[in-house]
Amino acid sequence: MSSPQPLIFRKGLDMKEAVAGELAAAYDSALIDRVRASDFQFTSGRLIVHLAREFGFCYGVDRAVDYAYQARRRFPGRNVFLTGEIIHNPYVNDRLRSEGIRFLSDPGENADRLGKDDVVILPAFGVTVREMARLSNQGCTLVDTTCGSVLNVWKNVVRYAQDGFTAIIHGKVKHEETRATASQALKYPQGRYLVILDRAEAAIVCDYIRTDGDRAAFLERFEGALSPGFDPDRDLQRVGCANQTTMLMSESLEIGEMFRSAMRDRYGEAALASRFRAFDTICSATQERQDAVIALLEHQTPDLMLVIGGYNSSNTCNLARICADKVRTYHIADPECLLSGDEIRHRPVGAPSTTSGIEETSRGWLPPNGTVVVGLTAGASTPNNIVGEVIRKLESFCG
Ligand code: SF4
Repeated sequence: MSSPQPLIFRKGLDMKEAVAGELAAAYDSALIDRVRASDFQFTSGRLIVHLAREFGFCYGVDRAVDYAYQARRRFPGRNVFLTGEIIHNPYVNDRLRSEGIRFLSDPGENADRLGKDDVVILPAFGVTVREMARLSNQGCTLVDTTCGSVLNVWKNVVRYAQDGFTAIIHGKVKHEETRATASQALKYPQGRYLVILDRAEAAIVCDYIRTDGDRAAFLERFEGALSPGFDPDRDLQRVGCANQTTMLMSESLEIGEMFRSAMRDRYGEAALASRFRAFDTICSATQERQDAVIALLEHQTPDLMLVIGGYNSSNTCNLARICADKVRTYHIADPECLLSGDEIRHRPVGAPSTTSGIEETSRGWLPPNGTVVVGLTAGASTPNNIVGEVIRKLESFCG
């Protein structure tokens, strides 16, 4: 018996206008509109806030949240599920739960029970090839919000696999996007991948390329980050670089150059074109937010930076890393983290991107007297109303 054919929505559900008011009420902020109109500056009493010129919801997140609301409206009376978090922002995920959208990652849910009457929304960072096939085979109606910038990375990784290049993916091995991207490499029998987190891991792989090395130690070091059956002696002979779209752009570019140089050292300049490829797959929204915070810190000298976003949001963690290099920085999830003018809850910059067990409380974060200059930005999954509430809270402490 053949499987039921899934219905897949990729370009909206003709409900955009119907949900526009609801979305604006849930996520917009009149205060933020005013701050934008005032050259991204807010002044009240002794408080001056400089807001980065690019911050908050990116085009991919905007679209994913929009489609989720459209799906709820388009299929009343049917169960509507998300495969997991739609984006890495607890406020947005909780709002969707309150709209009646169920999360397959929540306790008690079971994806095996899904069938043709169920609607499943795929998140902005995509799902693995296997998960997509399973939901399709179950005949679910699919609302695919995978961002075009993620699809662009997949296209490059699939091409690497077709051409016999191992995809070296600069990303976080447990991040949904990186898992989905890595799965694309396995669409072809000769497809291989290796996920590396940072320069330090890139350096280990580059050393292996130059000189070979201890194969067993290599496999142990990168266990869980390699395609099945990975053989470094065979699979590092032709490599192509790609990255999770939300990594630190400067680091991704540097890693690409490290691999180019290692391949040149090993095989010579003439062989480079046939053994090494690279595409910059950082998305433009991530790049713009990183550039904007760099520009803010070049032109202003705030006493501190606040970076707002989910603790498991990769792009937010990277914005905090950029800021922390220049100024005292606090990565906060929401306005509730601002406990008082003295105490703040925050994720230590550089801690693993995870939601659990990493928050700490610091004291003396806000200067008690005189003018206070605060730099502010927010990750690509943080809605404007949260940014606006943070400014209001700051104002209340500096009155
Ligand atoms: S961060 Fe970039 S890739 Fe991710 S959803 Fe936003 S625009 Fe798309």
